[in-house]
Amino acid sequence: MKKMNNEKYDYLIVGAGLYGAVFARQAVNSGKNVCVIDKRAHIAGNVYTRTVEGIHVHEYGAHIFHTNNKKVWDYVNGFAEFNRFTNSPVANYKGELYSLPFNMYTFNKMWGVVTPEEAAAKIEEQKKDAIEAMNAEGVTEPRNLEEQAITLVGKDIFEKLVKGYTEKQWGRKCSELPAFIIKRLPVRLTFDNNYFNALYQGIPIGGYTKLVNNMLEGIPVQLGTDYLSDKEKWDSMADRVVYTGPIDAYFGYEKGYLEYRSVRFETELLDQPNFQGNAAVNYTDSETPWTRIIEHKWFEFGKDENGNELPKTVISKEYSSEWKPGDEPYYPVNDAKNSALYTEYRNMAEKEKKVLFGGRLGEYKYYDMDQVIATALEAAEKELG
Ligand SMILES: Cc1cc2nc3c(=O)[nH]c(=O)nc-3n(C[C@H](O)[C@H](O)[C@H](O)COP(=O)(O)OP(=O)(O)OC[C@H]3O[C@@H](n4cnc5c(N)ncnc54)[C@H](O)[C@@H]3O)c2cc1C
Repeated sequence: MKKMNNEKYDYLIVGAGLYGAVFARQAVNSGKNVCVIDKRAHIAGNVYTRTVEGIHVHEYGAHIFHTNNKKVWDYVNGFAEFNRFTNSPVANYKGELYSLPFNMYTFNKMWGVVTPEEAAAKIEEQKKDAIEAMNAEGVTEPRNLEEQAITLVGKDIFEKLVKGYTEKQWGRKCSELPAFIIKRLPVRLTFDNNYFNALYQGIPIGGYTKLVNNMLEGIPVQLGTDYLSDKEKWDSMADRVVYTGPIDAYFGYEKGYLEYRSVRFETELLDQPNFQGNAAVNYTDSETPWTRIIEHKWFEFGKDENGNELPKTVISKEYSSEWKPGDEPYYPVNDAKNSALYTEYRNMAEKEKKVLFGGRLGEYKYYDMDQVIATALEAAEKELG
């Protein structure tokens, strides 16, 4: 990364996350003069990884790169080498361990069934019991998430693997949550723990920060700099602005706050080589206060970049938390109220001719990393030709 001087730029990029870094790279490759600012003290936005005892700690939550988009996969591989990590989370229900997503390993552990036929029969039997119990009460359509989930996968899977986890995530009982939240609960009648089932999957060797640093090579970046606190000055320095911060913040929350769901992380360095033997363990009971524990070293098979075993480990406990203005925005809430508010801001954004709004905060949309890269590439192509 280069230091910024006070020249005039073709593009000022606000945000050094994936969207900003991809756009900046493409603009520079098209011969544009570009600078990047970020209000945080580091690059890479929410995919930032901090190195602790040789372990790349996913500071803003576990990030697993997965995609079916070959163009995006080839693009990111131009900036980092990816390992063969496959996401296969484990569920811990009161000390009983189950494979996720629901597959033959899960059903064998749950019921002792061995063949796909036996598993399918067991699931059907449990679904039938649930539907009959509902019908006996005169109910034909699931009235809430609990009834919806039980009619999709039966009582045992719901009770042990869905109920507690979902209630912790939403902070409400499944019987008080709307049914539409869970449309499908896929079951696999194969021995397959590969959560994402994507064509391409892995973790950038050396961490995400290194990946983004490579994208920003040779581009001036200024950190710890809030665009909105000195907007006029920054606007005067560039012909065009690419803004990847929150769209409501850009307009001073004039129409109100867009809401988010939040997550809180408690991270600890432990003086032991192995805490849970897997990158992600979901706690699916309702008594354990956290939803998941991430053990970061297993994203890279417990080794550093030179293949050395790491003697310590870092874990992060994840807690779902209520969001209030000022908190870190994580997951946009796509309900009618927030969608309508976003549309108002979107209409205002369209009048800002100098500014292009992009990324998960600029578009108030949950994007996986591959999607955010794809949208940045598309926007850059449209903008730069
Ligand atoms: C908990 C969690 C887990 C996730 N796990 C996965 C996963 O496993 N796989 C996957 O594919 N995706 C995952 N994602 C999605 C992934 O995080 C996003 O796709 C990606 O981070 C979006 O990049 P971005 O550039 O749009 O936003 P960001 O990374 O948020 O970057 C925006 C940047 O803009 C800066 N900024 C904001 N306002 C200003 C301002 N006024 N002035 C200067 N700078 C500003 C911010 O500091 C930030 O650095 C996850 C998301 C979350 C919330």
